[in-house]
Amino acid sequence: MEMHQDIREAVARLCADFPGPYWRRLDAERAYPTEFVRALTEQGYLSALIPEDYGGTGLGLSAAVAILEEIHRAGCNASACHAQMYTMGTLLRHGSEAQKRRWLPGIASGALRLQAFGVTEPTSGTNTAAIRTFARREGDRYIVSGQKIWTSRAEHSDLMILLARTTPAAEVAKKTDGLSVFLIDMRAAKGKGLRISPIRTMMNHSTCEVFFDEVEVPAENLIGEEGKGFRYILSGMNAERILIAAECIGDAKWLIDRAARYAGEREVFGRPIGMNQGIAFPIAAAYARMRAAELMVHEAVRRYEAGGNPGAEANMAKMLAAEASWEAAEAAMQTFGGFAFAEEYDIERKFRETRLYQVAPISTNLILSYLAEHVLGMPRSY
Ligand SMILES: Cc1cc2nc3c(=O)[nH]c(=O)nc-3n(C[C@H](O)[C@H](O)[C@H](O)COP(=O)(O)OP(=O)(O)OC[C@H]3O[C@@H](n4cnc5c(N)ncnc54)[C@H](O)[C@@H]3O)c2cc1C
Repeated sequence: MEMHQDIREAVARLCADFPGPYWRRLDAERAYPTEFVRALTEQGYLSALIPEDYGGTGLGLSAAVAILEEIHRAGCNASACHAQMYTMGTLLRHGSEAQKRRWLPGIASGALRLQAFGVTEPTSGTNTAAIRTFARREGDRYIVSGQKIWTSRAEHSDLMILLARTTPAAEVAKKTDGLSVFLIDMRAAKGKGLRISPIRTMMNHSTCEVFFDEVEVPAENLIGEEGKGFRYILSGMNAERILIAAECIGDAKWLIDRAARYAGEREVFGRPIGMNQGIAFPIAAAYARMRAAELMVHEAVRRYEAGGNPGAEANMAKMLAAEASWEAAEAAMQTFGGFAFAEEYDIERKFRETRLYQVAPISTNLILSYLAEHVLGMPRSY
């Protein structure tokens, strides 16, 4: 029996109302899954990580993992709203009591959407310490100028967690110092220096460029201490990686189910194609790798819920699960043959969607660098 069986069954029932044709229509129109996100919000699933004291369901990480895995296992896609679950973690862990009381209840109910996370910039890429967006203090406010890229869901978010430089890189001892985190009220900033420009990508992902031109931010929206933002952002990344890994496990299960079923049904040369080991073995191998990755996800969750901050396991879970879902997608493409390319089977959609997770929220190379340096003690490569 899997953990949180009751939640899994309830999420699966909700997802049954959002079958393949729903996602295909959105894909064609590049539209946001408003109804799907509303249904998840109304059931309280997106507030799983917000403590009950602040209006959330306080279910915890293992429940959040079950929710996101089941969404993907049903062929749906949580990328439109998964960040509503975890972006608030920075506020929850490092915000003042007044900030938490002000913002978290609205985020928990869904009245306020905090699902935009502005870290990556076009010129800095993976090198977060090299970001250029700058927030300068003027009395009781900061003035922000710069640009973010790949700020997903910015058009569907009221608030954004923004990482900006507050001390020039040349004036800090460590390049990760002098960065600060702000809660940006995008409703107030739009048209007053904040501009959002969607990027068309190979899947329907609502990701954007965001431009800041002298945007005023009240100083009370600074989270934690000025200059310490880099570590605040890092502290939330393990939860995010574990949750994305769970989505990949869900994708892999969906793809493997579909491929195995099709291999048993499709007859060519008078026999099911699954009788050919060239078809059956890649699906079986993908299953074995998915199960191994799933164990790493469980281990990361176990350590996290025991109060740890399991960087190695969270990173390995994300890497292994993203590779497993991609292997499952490959096997499904080959099994469906020509029909894999027809939109109505949803295989090509999942193939496109699940490929992202080897690149974002962090690419495989950076995970390997982390393991090489922090777990195996090898020299830092960058
Ligand atoms: C659809 C989508 C949604 C995203 N959503 C968000 C979001 O909401 N918020 C946000 O802030 N960001 C977001 N991102 C950004 C994402 O986190 C980055 O794309 C990712 O971290 C890689 O950065 P980059 O694209 O600049 O690649 P680059 O840094 O340019 O790297 C390119 C390649 O070089 C490799 N590389 C770079 N440096 C090294 C090194 N030292 N050693 C080995 N290999 C290296 C990388 O691993 C990568 O494979 C999103 C990206 C995408 C595509």
